[in-house]
Amino acid sequence: MTNRDRIDGLAALPREELRELLSHHSDEDSAYLFYKARAARERVYGKAVYLRGLIEFSSHCKNDCYYCGLRRSNANAARYRLSQAEILDCCAQGYALGFRTFVLQSGEDPYYHDARMAAIVLEIRQTYPDCAITLSLGERSRESLQALFDAGADRYLLRHETANAAHYARLHPPELRLSSRVECLRDLRDIGYQVGCGFMVGSPGQTIDCLLDDLAFLAEFQPDMVGIGPFLPHKETPFANERAGSVETTLFLLGIIRLLLPRVLLPATTALGTASPLGREKGLLAGANVIMPNLSPVAVRKKYMLYDGKICTGEEAAECRNCLQRRVESVGCSIVTSRGDPAR
Ligand code: SAH
Ligand code: SF4
Repeated sequence: MTNRDRIDGLAALPREELRELLSHHSDEDSAYLFYKARAARERVYGKAVYLRGLIEFSSHCKNDCYYCGLRRSNANAARYRLSQAEILDCCAQGYALGFRTFVLQSGEDPYYHDARMAAIVLEIRQTYPDCAITLSLGERSRESLQALFDAGADRYLLRHETANAAHYARLHPPELRLSSRVECLRDLRDIGYQVGCGFMVGSPGQTIDCLLDDLAFLAEFQPDMVGIGPFLPHKETPFANERAGSVETTLFLLGIIRLLLPRVLLPATTALGTASPLGREKGLLAGANVIMPNLSPVAVRKKYMLYDGKICTGEEAAECRNCLQRRVESVGCSIVTSRGDPAR
């Protein structure tokens, strides 16, 4: 079997053939994969790129993931919380700029207990009935997720991080378990959320087998959204001296995921844009169709540092919007003002 055959048959490729494709491919193979991925995306979504306005509303976190700058053991992390009014201000700015999805993301911060979080979701829901509300708050109980859904949240992003339990244990302290993460993903699906999972590329200890486990998990779970980006070290974590994940591998996986799940909503992530100046454009050319610009107040942006060197921490939302429009159009796509729900 040639790599071209493997790419043509990707949707039903046996694990060993996928291993071969991931481990040995040429620049021509990548170009062919990206060409097919773009065609698959265009059959479902045309040239549309959807914007998600990211509001990073708290940098407090009770967890201690080894890779993340917000981990509780990082005593030098700058911590902040946005009030309900401040979050609503971010939404107002975003709405005026054409955003129709708001993503509320934070560390795992118990300050935002169910009543407080539900009140925020409800006010956004009532003020912007035409917008989607996405949450990315880490793991919560099923009751909590249900309460937030009832308040008006539509979508939830919870990367599984790695589908390989041994690798999960290499990235997290023992109190965090892959089984809990996956249970939470299944709860979200049962409740009726549109669900996003995903993983970092090139995180310490990741092998081809880990990636094959990740792809098998995606094929089985059939998420509505998949977030992947290169692992990038943060200087105040146990992984400070680890190598960053590869941009090329991230792009190759974006192409594979598009062919595996043609209807998936697939962001060209900020981490990809941080790892390489044209990373997000290359992501769109590899099959991505979502961009998640920052709507957080500029005063707090530098405090939400998951990894070193994060881009777009100095710009106002309006500047980002114009910059992104140029970037998206440079690769023949166009930003659309809509909720950007998954194609059925
Ligand atoms: N606390 C929530 C949401 C914020 S973290 C949660 O953990 O789900 C959002 C994502 O950032 C994580 O899922 C992880 O995949 C990514 N991330 C964290 N640290 C990173 C790093 N050093 N490099 C790349 N991505 C990172
Ligand atoms: Fe907290 Fe999320 Fe960072 Fe883990 S990845 S330390 S849960 S913010």
